[in-house]
Amino acid sequence: MKTKLEKYNLISEQIRNCRNCALCETAIQAVVGDGNINAKVVFIGEAPGKNEDEVGKPFVGRAGKLLDSCLYEIGLDRGDVWIGNLIKHRPPKNRDPLPQEIEACRDFLTSQLEVIKPAIIVTLGRFSFNYFFPDAKISSERGKLKKYENYQIFPVYHPAAALRNKKFLSTLKDDFFELSKLLKDR
Ligand code: URA
Repeated sequence: MKTKLEKYNLISEQIRNCRNCALCETAIQAVVGDGNINAKVVFIGEAPGKNEDEVGKPFVGRAGKLLDSCLYEIGLDRGDVWIGNLIKHRPPKNRDPLPQEIEACRDFLTSQLEVIKPAIIVTLGRFSFNYFFPDAKISSERGKLKKYENYQIFPVYHPAAALRNKKFLSTLKDDFFELSKLLKDR
């Protein structure tokens, strides 16, 4: 019987060896995910960008700094949460992930979530939200807890969108405050 950590490490190894799509040819390395695999809450972004590709960790650039500060404001840091992405290799020039790339990576995130078993999955941005709810609109559904299979999904705007638009930033902060309340009962 494998431990939780052994199962997680095995998935990480499979991700590092993945050749399911062409992104592994242009990326420097796979960005598996980072943080606490016993976390109650996980954050799922879209795909690694340039900084993440270089460092090998998710959300280490400007959007990541904003994510850190949103976490800090609700009394959390990276050690309390797990952070991952839909796509594990950086799309060239940070372009949007293609549907076939999202599909090629799908089983990895599914397996990671099965091992971590979070109480709440926070989707960061529209790609991550639409992965679970393909036809839903993030603008009307953000900040609301939604059930997906055995999971509770809490969609919020992507921190990169909040960096571009002040309105999104204040909405993102409000949604993190709501999230902190939800986490108290879990
Ligand atoms: N944006 C994402 O969606 N993921 C990262 O890891 C970094 C930026």
